[in-house]
Amino acid sequence: MAVPESRLRPEEELATGSGGAMARVISLANQKGGVAKTTTTVNLAAALQELGERVLTIDLDPQSNLTMSQGLNPDTIERSMFDVLVRSLPIEEIIENVELNVAVSSIDLAGAELALASMIGRERALEKALNPVRSRYDFILIDTPPSLGLLTINALTASHEVIVPVQCEYLSLRGLAQLQNTLKMIRENLNPSVDISGILPTMYDGRTLHCREAVEMLLENFGDRVFKTRIRKTVRYAEAPVAGTSVLAYDPKGAAAGAYRSLAKEVLNGAQAQEHA
Ligand code: ADP
Ligand code: MG
Repeated sequence: MAVPESRLRPEEELATGSGGAMARVISLANQKGGVAKTTTTVNLAAALQELGERVLTIDLDPQSNLTMSQGLNPDTIERSMFDVLVRSLPIEEIIENVELNVAVSSIDLAGAELALASMIGRERALEKALNPVRSRYDFILIDTPPSLGLLTINALTASHEVIVPVQCEYLSLRGLAQLQNTLKMIRENLNPSVDISGILPTMYDGRTLHCREAVEMLLENFGDRVFKTRIRKTVRYAEAPVAGTSVLAYDPKGAAAGAYRSLAKEVLNGAQAQEHA
C-alpha cells in the first residue's frame, strides 16, 4: 500500500518539535452509499485500538450510522459535529467514549452544508476543529456521507490520506473517477498532499466471476494502492451494530473480525514503510 509522501504538513512538523506525535488523519470516502464506509470506519478503528493505537472516529454523516452503530441514540444527542463545524464548539465536548471514541453526529448535521456555505473558511472548519486534539491520538478516522458536498470536502481538506471502500461491482468502480476529480480539485486549492492511500474491496465474493473481474480492474487501475485484504460478504457486519459494537467485540474469533485486523496491519505497515523511506 502506498502512502502519500507527506503525512505531516509543515505547521504540524513545527508543532511536533516538542516531541508529541500528531495523528494520522484518514477519511473513509466514496460518494456511493452502501459500500462499507461506516463499517470500515468502526472496524478499522477497533482493530487499530486492539493493537494499542489511540483512535478517534468522527461521524460526519447526517444519517449518523457510525454514532448508532456504537449504541448511541442520535435523537437524544444535543450537541454534535454540527455545533463543532458551524458554532466552533470544541470537538472534545462532543466526543463519546464508548467502545470507540466517537465525535458524534445527529440529524442537525444535515443543515451544516447550508450553514457552512456562507461562512468564510467553510472548507477548513473541520481541519481547524481537529487542531487541539491531534496530539492526543495516533489515528483520526473520518466517516463521510455518500456525497461530494461540503461535509466531504471538509473531511478531505482535513485529511492526510483517503481510504476508499469499493463494492466489488463494475458500476461501483465507475464512480471512482468522480472521487479522483474531486481530490484533484482539493489538492489544487485546499490540501496539496491529500491522496488515496488505499482502495479496499468490500463485500467480496470470490465465487462470482464478476467480483473477481472487478478486483482485477481495480488492480489494473490502482496497482499497489489496492489493499491485499479483501472484506468478504457476511451478515456479521450487519449484526454487530445491532449489538452496538464493532465486529471485533461482537465475534472476536470470527473471520469478519480477522479481516479488519489484517487491514489494520496493512494501514500500520504503510506508515512504517513511509517513515523509513
Ligand atoms: P456506507 O457507510 O458506505 O453507506 P455501510 O458501512 O453502512 O456503508 O454498509 C452498508 C450495509 O452493508 C450495512 O447494512 C452493512 O452492515 C452492510 N455491510 C457492510 N460490509 C459488509 C460486508 N462485507 N458483507 C456484507 N454486508 C456488509
Ligand atoms: Mg455510512
